[in-house]
Amino acid sequence: MKIETKCLHEGYTPKNGEPRVLPIVQSTTYCFDSTEHIAQLFDMPTEFMYSRFANPTVDAVEKKIAALEGGVGAMCTSSGQAANLLSILNLCSAGDSFIAAATIYGGTINLFAVTLKKLGIECIFVDADAAPEEIEKAFRPNTKAVFGETLANPALTVFDIEKFAAIAHAHKVPLIVDNTFATPVLCRPFEFGADIVVHSTTKYMDGHAVQGGGVIVDSGKFDWTNGNFPDFVEPDESYHGVSYTKAFGPMAYIIKARMQLMRDFGCYPAANSAFLLNLGLETLPVRMRQYCTNAMDTAKFLEGNSKVTSVNYPGLPSNKYHKLAKKYLPEGCSGVISFNIAGGREMAVKFMDHLELASNVVHVADIRTCVLHPASATHRQLTDEQLVAAGIDGGMIRLSVGLEHIDDILADLEKGFAAI
Ligand SMILES: *Cc1c(COP(=O)(O)O)cnc(C)c1O
Repeated sequence: MKIETKCLHEGYTPKNGEPRVLPIVQSTTYCFDSTEHIAQLFDMPTEFMYSRFANPTVDAVEKKIAALEGGVGAMCTSSGQAANLLSILNLCSAGDSFIAAATIYGGTINLFAVTLKKLGIECIFVDADAAPEEIEKAFRPNTKAVFGETLANPALTVFDIEKFAAIAHAHKVPLIVDNTFATPVLCRPFEFGADIVVHSTTKYMDGHAVQGGGVIVDSGKFDWTNGNFPDFVEPDESYHGVSYTKAFGPMAYIIKARMQLMRDFGCYPAANSAFLLNLGLETLPVRMRQYCTNAMDTAKFLEGNSKVTSVNYPGLPSNKYHKLAKKYLPEGCSGVISFNIAGGREMAVKFMDHLELASNVVHVADIRTCVLHPASATHRQLTDEQLVAAGIDGGMIRLSVGLEHIDDILADLEKGFAAI
């Protein structure tokens, strides 16, 4: 099936007499006939037991997202940050390190550079555009993963997935790609060699700003028995001595994430959130195409304005990442644009405060056009040095183009320009 059809039909197929629409199973627990049956579930959780780590509504959405990305399994989380956290903790323990592109989401930089460091896990940031030989210098004997964002938030750099997959695999570690901005409609990182995909489903996947969530998807292709990941192979004492690779084969990563990490951390979404996410997923392909069209028109408009010193949108032929975008995002570069206003921080803030249609919100990838000033919001915690490394300037505005009519979006931007 094509992705439009998968978005509507994967994950839930009603049987005779069952509801046409995915039901919200608002129950934390499930009944069983015997104590023995429950005992067996504690050895091998093959049925729903408890909502800290599995629920039928969420399960249907997990199956849909796995199908959209072309993976063997998925696990939803209560936020994108929770997905990022668990994707790393499933591979790294205290004393390990991993490598991440420097141009990633500011919240993820905090998580990786500050919070994980307190847990004894070191993140080494690299310039994603550097030559493979440069990037290889960041590997240590304890390196367990490589991480990057398909389309970085908000730097909008395009991640060379094939280059990083080759480097990661040469060092026997998996490549994790945060595919939030692209969504599986515009890019499927597994087709380029990524092993694990994560998303903040809070963004385009939901798209209506009604639920916060995340997801981890497993390609099922990485060889966890290569000697680098004993936790996947050796018996898990906290789970009756199960060996994840022996018991679950290609699903070892995603099942270990659920059985160890979701069981212990419990950052699982509510059934109602999964229901809302599913509604968003049903229309994702139609929305993504319109975002791409509206954003491309807006980017061209901005490029022609004398009060704009630079426009960053990989869909523009003038963009540094245009070639990579044509390879990884051939159908379009999503709806987020960043641009710099002449006059720096002060003018950028003034411009934003004169917009009427575009909402000034701490969000992105919404159905409604919205704007944000990264230097004073999402990236506020970063030092000036980190800001530069993340590709952020004081005059930079992140514009998330919505699905309003393009004429109204551009008319609103004109109001901002008239004020500066
Ligand atoms: C928003 C975002 C996150 C964090 O997701 P939350 O759902 O806000 O926790 C992670 N990565 C990227 C690329 C994002 O845009």
